Amino acid sequence: MADYKAPLRDMRFVLFELFDGEGLARLPGYEEFTRDLIDPILEEGARFCEEVLHPLNRSGDEEGCRLENGVVRTPAGFPEAYRLFREGGWPSLAGDPEYGGQGLPHLVDVFITEMICSANLSFGLYPGLTHGACVALTAYGSQELKEAYLPKMVEGSWSGTMCLTEPHCGTDLGLLRTKAEPQPDGSYRLTGSKMFISAGEHDLTENIVHLVLARLPDAPKGVKGISLFLVPKFLPREDGAPGARNGVACGALEHKMGIKASATCVMNFDGATGWLVGEPHKGLRAMFSMMNMERVAVGLQGLGVAEASYQGASAYARERLQGRSLKGAKYPAKPADPIVVHPDVRRMLLTQRAYAEGGRALAAWTAQALDAARRDPDPARRREAEDFVALMTPIVKALLTDLGFEAANLGMQVLGGHGYIREHGMEQYARDARIAQIYEGANGIQALDLVGRKLPADFGRLLRSFFHPVSDYVEARKGDKALREFVEPLAKAFTRLQQATAQIARAGLRDPDEAGAAATDYLRLFGLVALAYLWARMAEVSLAKIAAGDEDRFYAGKIAVARFFMQRLLPQTGALHAAIMAGAGALMALEDADF
Ligand SMILES: Cc1cc2nc3c(=O)[nH]c(=O)nc-3n(C[C@H](O)[C@H](O)[C@H](O)COP(=O)(O)OP(=O)(O)OC[C@H]3O[C@@H](n4cnc5c(N)ncnc54)[C@H](O)[C@@H]3O)c2cc1C
Repeated sequence: MADYKAPLRDMRFVLFELFDGEGLARLPGYEEFTRDLIDPILEEGARFCEEVLHPLNRSGDEEGCRLENGVVRTPAGFPEAYRLFREGGWPSLAGDPEYGGQGLPHLVDVFITEMICSANLSFGLYPGLTHGACVALTAYGSQELKEAYLPKMVEGSWSGTMCLTEPHCGTDLGLLRTKAEPQPDGSYRLTGSKMFISAGEHDLTENIVHLVLARLPDAPKGVKGISLFLVPKFLPREDGAPGARNGVACGALEHKMGIKASATCVMNFDGATGWLVGEPHKGLRAMFSMMNMERVAVGLQGLGVAEASYQGASAYARERLQGRSLKGAKYPAKPADPIVVHPDVRRMLLTQRAYAEGGRALAAWTAQALDAARRDPDPARRREAEDFVALMTPIVKALLTDLGFEAANLGMQVLGGHGYIREHGMEQYARDARIAQIYEGANGIQALDLVGRKLPADFGRLLRSFFHPVSDYVEARKGDKALREFVEPLAKAFTRLQQATAQIARAGLRDPDEAGAAATDYLRLFGLVALAYLWARMAEVSLAKIAAGDEDRFYAGKIAVARFFMQRLLPQTGALHAAIMAGAGALMALEDADF
């Protein structure tokens, strides 16, 4: 399996040269996060991911998880790696300081999460879900529940899950059947079966805390009758330590395509004791409180895999000798040229790299807004940041996971047959990346969220948080000759996006199928324009460095990839625009029975 080296140089570029990482310390609550503190956190994170997590990626995939007498065993090395992870304080890094967390800004946390996803996606799911559960509990749990559970979950000795899905109910949660009956002592008895529950059962932590969606006896039908409950595997004793076993157990493990070291469990609740989180029948709202962040985190899974696959493919392409350059031998002393000389191989590598580096900038831009939404003292800036996060969340989730899978697939192709067999680990990246397009709201559902909820919200108010900075940028750089090759294609693609937005608003009002039919193409068009804006800015920063005499080859590389993105990838927006403008007619014409 190819080595993984955390791309710290690029992360620092995004954090401190493209965005204002140094300015984080000016936000209330983030004062201590100066560059002096951030740099060692990134370096230590990189070391842990490279030396502890990545070596377990392949063995974890081959061994998978096992269910033995109701207990799930994670692959060899995972419990020890998790122990080191905890001892290093990594679970609490982004946690709420009120419950023992270290309150790391999102703008730094995205890089740590990306590294974990690159190094070992399956491992990352265990702490990732716990973090999401902590966010929901912090926002909606009673003081008593928070005090009893959060400190242990934040420090990572207890883990968390999200139990939404049932066999007959995935996207449409209104169909869910798990029941919760009130008990005289204020607790509830939960009965039902959940499936596909990540980290539902495992041997990494002392206790597992399930956040479960269920219906109360008087619940209205549909999504308005769903409540959220906390159900621990072991009921805490008076002293807070795990006590009696609760009525929840893993019935089976799913056999699946990828992320094999992540336990995907059928969870049976058989009169399990639980407590209400938030108000009755308002469970979806509580569950979705963690969704913005969780969806960005799933986007990072796509990004992490894209980066790791690029690293494997580019190392191989520089070594593997096959054929000669079309212009004649480039390395005549060798029996053949390395495949990196071939235009088609370069197309694949540059596509991977443009998606990974562009995606990293997009995730960081969104993370910066998450920080501003939480910490900026100016209410107007806070609201604008909230609008931006709401708008970009479905785009980050769906675009980065789609691009992550495309990149992993290209990575395999670069290695030819050696990519398809297991030895180099490239096919694992493709298998692992695939699920991120499905869970946490399938990507088609993200696209519907964008066109159905985010675009019309408050007469298009959210859109302004993206459209204004992009049009201001284009306007301000119109006459700049050095930037023309970046700004002109951006402006053209942005016009396409504006036209597509107007078309969806018009046609979608008349016929909702029109918006539904355009949704996926529109999300991709939007995402590519966002990447183009960021690539133009990254090229601008790099050109300025070179003009100032900086000789770091990094900047020339950035400009080359920016050029590739503008010339060879951004033109996809023309095809997407045409598909959107064609409308829903051809898509809806066949009778259902004719499929
Ligand atoms: C490995 C793995 C881990 C998972 N982890 C968890 C977990 O920890 N907790 C949890 O609760 N769940 C988890 N899930 C479940 C996952 O979130 C669901 O699979 C996902 O929500 C989709 O639901 P579904 O599979 O029932 O598909 P369906 O809802 O049946 O959807 C099938 C297809 O139809 C499309 N579709 C459905 N409805 C609409 C609509 N209204 N409009 C347009 N298109 C539509 C979807 O986009 C999708 O392409 C996991 C799943 C897997 C495979």
